[in-house]
Amino acid sequence: MQADIDRILITRQQIAERVRELALRITADHSPPILDAGEITIVPILTGAVIFTADLIRHMPLAMKIGLITVSSYPGAAVQSKGAQLLGRQLGDIRGRHVLVVDDILDSGGTLRMVVPLLQQYGPAGVKTCVLLRKDRPAARDVPVDYVGFDIPDQFVVGYGLDYDDYYRNLPEIVTLRPSAMGKSP
Ligand code: 5GP
Ligand code: MG
Repeated sequence: MQADIDRILITRQQIAERVRELALRITADHSPPILDAGEITIVPILTGAVIFTADLIRHMPLAMKIGLITVSSYPGAAVQSKGAQLLGRQLGDIRGRHVLVVDDILDSGGTLRMVVPLLQQYGPAGVKTCVLLRKDRPAARDVPVDYVGFDIPDQFVVGYGLDYDDYYRNLPEIVTLRPSAMGKSP
């Protein structure tokens, strides 16, 4: 695994600091007097957002429920989006609730463009979006997002939940892979 890493883009300390800042802002935005009616449901987009969400919500002292949605856009060993595909959902009742969608990375924007209208169909009080990473490309900047952790260059990254062929999600940093690591399993 370690030999497959090309460059560390964001260290675990940088991630931890930024996650805490985002959580503080989200908590303030979902507390009185800004919001005083309706509880929040956090909806991580599986699988990539699980680690980010787990760290984020432990800094958010709010009454919350968790809903799940599974979307695949980089199936298998793909390093470019093949289009967002909805694989499953387990949302609970989000009618009248404030929904916060959490994703690992905003790239083409296809995922959020599919997920947000889908959630709106259930009559929530509102839907906000949070991504840990946003790629520096026009398509990503065209999608409105409420909370962004880091803007990064338009490169394929793994770690902290993000995968290549479902591996590397457990790396604590955001990294790029050596070309030799792509096309083989670790
Ligand atoms: P979008 O739908 O915005 O194109 O891409 C969002 C999804 O694509 C993310 O949730 C993530 O699963 C996947 N993705 C996009 N860019 C990357 C990347 O650089 N690395 C990895 N591992 N996944 C990515
Ligand atoms: Mg994803």
